[in-house]
Amino acid sequence: MWLKIKPEEPLILGDVRAGSQFLSSTPYIPGRVLRGAWAEWLLAQGREDILPTVERVRIGNFFPTVEWRPIRYTLPLPLSALTCKQKSGFRGEPLPDHRGHGVVDTLLPQVAYQILEKAGARFSAPFTLTCIECGDRMEPMSGFYTVYQYSGTDRYVQTRLRYHAQTKVGLSRYRRASAEQMLYTASALSPVAESPEEKEKRNALVFVGRVHGKREDVQSLIDAVNRVAVGALHTRGYGRVTAEEAKVAGLSDIAERVNQFNATLAHCWQDIKRLAANAGELPEKPEGTYFSVDLLAPGVFQENGVPSLVPTLDVNGQTLTPLFWMTRPDFASGWSTAWGLPKPTNLAAHMGGVYVFRWEDGLESLVPALERLESQGIGERCDEGFGECLVCHPFHQEVEER
Ligand SMILES: [Zn+2]
Repeated sequence: MWLKIKPEEPLILGDVRAGSQFLSSTPYIPGRVLRGAWAEWLLAQGREDILPTVERVRIGNFFPTVEWRPIRYTLPLPLSALTCKQKSGFRGEPLPDHRGHGVVDTLLPQVAYQILEKAGARFSAPFTLTCIECGDRMEPMSGFYTVYQYSGTDRYVQTRLRYHAQTKVGLSRYRRASAEQMLYTASALSPVAESPEEKEKRNALVFVGRVHGKREDVQSLIDAVNRVAVGALHTRGYGRVTAEEAKVAGLSDIAERVNQFNATLAHCWQDIKRLAANAGELPEKPEGTYFSVDLLAPGVFQENGVPSLVPTLDVNGQTLTPLFWMTRPDFASGWSTAWGLPKPTNLAAHMGGVYVFRWEDGLESLVPALERLESQGIGERCDEGFGECLVCHPFHQEVEER
């Protein structure tokens, strides 16, 4: 189920880091922040079954977008998304000032190149991409984007956030409430963002995300979030939000995403195969079924007890290791709002990280396993929202500039 959260006041989301005098907000609402707000509300009601209650719903991260046209979905861009270094941004942005030379996903061309090489292809040049408009270099594009339904077509729009002027506040890092001892500089997310369509105009900022659980439990979460402020500085005019079920078209189902992923991979294979000196000796299409797992939250992984940036999957009793990945390090910290205690910090793989796996058996046995993966997350600390993932992120289809 998809929910929509609308800030009514500026938000400061994230953790108070020890030794830092700055409070800055993450650009999205981590699922664990909502879970903390829910626990806080249950505690205020004198409920004793807090932990078993909040564990019944898996709360994903909520990503920022702007209220404009009907939303298909809002997601973080995968680490494989590139844009022109000269003029970055989507080509189809409604506002001319926001239009760039396009954003393209490089995952499937890179995977095709690599598995062709493994199949014996001989290439005279390494894999490179340049901007088709100006020929300049491409660089990674991060952040969030929304696909809107706009007069019968899909419009890709980058989320442009605004931050509130910085204010100095006294804050106790242990209680996350006002106190006189320490002075912090706070930078908060504004509840309004730039309009995708008109210059100088503001539209409401909203966050959309997925939750997995029974309807009555999700309703309890919604009721709590509507009553308890989220993030830091509750008592200072920050963090009030409203939550409701979102009317978004959502993503196509996993089987369709996996099929499209493999169809596009086969196209890339054909295109890149032509560049090989020995094209005639190579197979017509890649063997096996490929799929990607894309991180929608930092992922906490271990390999033989050692922190790792690369996960392994257990699919129907088979251990799968990725054959291709793109990752960056991050940290997984946390705060137990209900108990007022910091949680341990782990090395984590960055949101937007992508891992490609190969499956030899049929799709029928794979799809239910991938559905479980999406609803439960991968790696450790999934109950805190780490390891939230998406199978075959739809942006991997964009092998031509958007
Ligand atoms: Zn360019």
